Amino acid sequence: MRQLLLLRHSLISIRFSSYSVSPKATVSHDQPNPPISAENVDITIAGGGLVGSAMALAFAVSPYFKNHKVVLLESQSKLPKVSKNQPYSNRVCALNAQSVDLFQKLGAWDLMKSIRVQKVSRMQNDQSQENSLAYIVENDVIQSCLLERLKQLNIEPRLNSKVKKFENEENSIRILLQDEKINLRTGLLIAADGYQSSIREMAGISTIQWNYDQFGIVATLQLADNMPNNVVAWQRFLPTGPIACLPLSNTHSSLVWTVPKSMLKSLMSLSDEQFVDAINKAFTSDVYKQNGVVSLTERMRSCWQQIIPASPTIAQYPPTIINIEPKSRAAFPLSLLNANQYVRPRLVLVGDSAHRIHPMAGQGVNMGFADVQCLVNVLERAIRDGADFNSLTYLVDYERERQARCLAKLLLIDSLNRLYSTKFLPIVALRSIGLSFINEFSPFKSFFAKQAASSA
Ligand SMILES: Cc1cc2nc3c(=O)[nH]c(=O)nc-3n(C[C@H](O)[C@H](O)[C@H](O)COP(=O)(O)OP(=O)(O)OC[C@H]3O[C@@H](n4cnc5c(N)ncnc54)[C@H](O)[C@@H]3O)c2cc1C
Repeated sequence: MRQLLLLRHSLISIRFSSYSVSPKATVSHDQPNPPISAENVDITIAGGGLVGSAMALAFAVSPYFKNHKVVLLESQSKLPKVSKNQPYSNRVCALNAQSVDLFQKLGAWDLMKSIRVQKVSRMQNDQSQENSLAYIVENDVIQSCLLERLKQLNIEPRLNSKVKKFENEENSIRILLQDEKINLRTGLLIAADGYQSSIREMAGISTIQWNYDQFGIVATLQLADNMPNNVVAWQRFLPTGPIACLPLSNTHSSLVWTVPKSMLKSLMSLSDEQFVDAINKAFTSDVYKQNGVVSLTERMRSCWQQIIPASPTIAQYPPTIINIEPKSRAAFPLSLLNANQYVRPRLVLVGDSAHRIHPMAGQGVNMGFADVQCLVNVLERAIRDGADFNSLTYLVDYERERQARCLAKLLLIDSLNRLYSTKFLPIVALRSIGLSFINEFSPFKSFFAKQAASSA
């Protein structure tokens, strides 16, 4: 409860944020070596992950930025390059309509479709079903296509380029890279360096964050039957955390299974065969349900059906899994994070460096892509108004819009995760009754479905 209050407090306090250049941002811990001559650029994006690559592309296609020099720095030595016949990778995301719209504008969507994307037309959990449109795409396919599109526009990310330090100068930020061979002087630094953002840290931007005592286990699943119409995303809410099976093709789906830390070791040490049994059991068996709740829910359901006619239920079951792709099982710690400021003079946070959310509603990277769209809109407006593109007045507009939306999502998903994770019987019963009610009563059902699929 204290954590929820902190988040709410953060939502209120963003209106009163002040934007001074923090001492941490102005004084780097040790001074850079004798200043090597600096390369002048307009915009530096630090982090060539999904969000940083999309950010670079958004500037590359914007007519307002065609005369601006934009560089994309990536600390790793290699970024993904995916071809059509490559095996599926285990990290996928469910792109919402807003992200697809962004990729269409960036000219990257057709490239993704030419490799592989899987349309989802229905979300189904054990108590409700809803028509919904999303696309399941592997992270590597998204990134590979964004980079391919950048290449078409003659932009290459600078690999092995880790931001080590930066300091504010009068009208710019000076960046020192890890190899200390080059300095950059930039008009705007965009941090897209992930949830452990060192740039956020160096700027002294505080965060609200907590670890869930949970991990997300991912794997690529082989299906028992060839399913020409594998277009349903399955999710089951277990007291241990939600398990989701997202379609990839006629023969494969992708697993995202939230488990408490206490279950992680045993699940990760199972043989593939035992792990597959555990997945099938988690999707179909009632062993995870709590006695008393199912029958109570059923009774409530039949009462409501006398008042409100039930919507026709399509009888379907989750696909049976026969195997997992070798070495595709992996686990990620889950946490919530929100930066208390998304902007500072000449500095902006986007993607996971600004916010990190529980993956149960598949919102994380969609929120990052919404940051990209919002930031580019705001900076274009600054140029149209005749202001400097990096004017703090406009950056603050980005912060105001994105903080409000992201905090609302963080709060909603965090509350749902708490609601679903509890084993306290009265809450479990109320939760099940609530879900039955939502399922039977169309206006509520549409409201919740819209919330889940709403813009990030
Ligand atoms: C189990 C799990 C399932 C998920 N499922 C979904 C889903 O279904 N849908 C969804 O929308 N989201 C999902 N997410 C969230 C999603 O994966 C993240 O939101 C997304 O990957 C964040 O992208 P990013 O580009 O902001 O950060 P990252 O992917 O972390 O990229 C940061 C990049 O910056 C580079 N870097 C770091 N430091 C520096 C530096 N100092 N200088 C230069 N470069 C640097 C890194 O090498 C990296 O390439 C899931 C997350 C988890 C853990």
